[in-house]
Amino acid sequence: TRRRSILTPPPHLLDWLNSAEENLPPQFLMFLSIPVCKGSSFRHLFYACYVWLGSIGSSADNKHLKSLMSGLSSMESKACCRVGVLTVTYYLWTTFIAVVVGILLVIIIKPGVGTEMDSNRLGGGPVMTSADALLDLIRNMVPSNLIEATFQQYKTDLVRILKVPRVTVQPNFVYIMPDDSGPTGRAVFLELTPPPEIHYKTRAGSSQQMNVLGIVIFSATMGLLLGKIGERGAPLVHLCQCINECVMKIINTAVWYFPFGIIFLIAGKMLDMQDPSTLGKKLGWYTITVLAGLFVHGLILLPFFYLILTRKNPFTFIRGLLQALVIALATSSSSATLPITMKCLLENCNVDRQIARFVLPVGATINMDGTALYEAVAAIFIAQVNDYELDFSQLVTISITATAASIGAAGIPQAGLVTMVIVLTSVGLPPDDITLIVSIDWVLDRFRTMINVLGDALAVGIIGHLCQKDFPRRPTGKSQPSYGT
Ligand code: ASP
Repeated sequence: TRRRSILTPPPHLLDWLNSAEENLPPQFLMFLSIPVCKGSSFRHLFYACYVWLGSIGSSADNKHLKSLMSGLSSMESKACCRVGVLTVTYYLWTTFIAVVVGILLVIIIKPGVGTEMDSNRLGGGPVMTSADALLDLIRNMVPSNLIEATFQQYKTDLVRILKVPRVTVQPNFVYIMPDDSGPTGRAVFLELTPPPEIHYKTRAGSSQQMNVLGIVIFSATMGLLLGKIGERGAPLVHLCQCINECVMKIINTAVWYFPFGIIFLIAGKMLDMQDPSTLGKKLGWYTITVLAGLFVHGLILLPFFYLILTRKNPFTFIRGLLQALVIALATSSSSATLPITMKCLLENCNVDRQIARFVLPVGATINMDGTALYEAVAAIFIAQVNDYELDFSQLVTISITATAASIGAAGIPQAGLVTMVIVLTSVGLPPDDITLIVSIDWVLDRFRTMINVLGDALAVGIIGHLCQKDFPRRPTGKSQPSYGT
């Protein structure tokens, strides 16, 4: 028999390509990129390959659509609109409710009242408004340059901060602001003890967060168009499916090493933690307030909305998400948890693939109920600590800016701490007072990330139920064929 050349593809190769069952939205790669090559440009290159090739091709399958783009390419534009509008409305509504819960609790519990502080510290600080955050969001939706979008997103706050020349040093906190050298000036460092996982440069630098929202919108557009051109897009589709398949295999292997990572992550943080006695009574009450708010929102209100809107048992749904919630607790990153959330939804919660692949990545980008609640509580806590009375209009301002700041926050550890500057400055509170809550933030971050993830996942269940009519029911679960049937 003739030996097959090494260059001849095995006969089953095309089948193998075509039978890709699992597709990942672009953010899935973040799961790998965070631990493997944090901060390196290799991460971005890896990302770029995946986003442009993997995402486009994997999603543009004409027969069975397997990701965000593919989901959209098969939808009627009416159905597409409906899902989009419902998703954004639901996300804004639940985030706003989270903020209101936080505000009510912090006003009732008053964790910061009675602490003696120097009230001269009010005012000043970098000027940032919620309009900036919302405008950034809109600018990010339409990236002017796709390559740039892979490396960084538009961030007004950093540019604004650069324009404020000042150096502030406080216990555990060094806030270094360079002189007024404009948006392309030197780097801003936020240095804390213990060192945080936050490290930002100006827009001219390359260690910014990638513009996930811009890429999601681009993918959605490409999906709709590829759905229209049909067979002509097939080569691209197959190439990208191959990349997708490989990435999925790597992720499936890496998931098995997670428990070890979790143990070392938490152990490291415990060792870094300061003497609890220095945290103070007020900080203790503040922590209790945030946790109570997260509990009320995540385990009472959101399940209640789910129950009312779907008439199904929310806790059965939540049980299917346990793995994702544990990973969120361990990593403090809803982006890093995204692959597991998707896996749980598809395998345990019986949700529609198309809906999940649209609603979940969008939610991970803009829907952060836990972060919004925490930002509102933290801002009012800081006001109470400063003995600064907030009137009703300021509470409304806080609720709007906390919603906007949470939308602008990235799904990475302690991103909410950075965007909180928006909330504080909107009502004239000193942004430097973030130092008051920084020592406890690593704990709260884990819990608010859990609620962020839970909010996104429940949204998939709710939107999926409300849009049932718009989609032919598709099988879920790993064992189901999703291509070529
Ligand atoms: N760590 C949060 C998340 O990834 C964001 C934050 O509130 O800091 O969802």
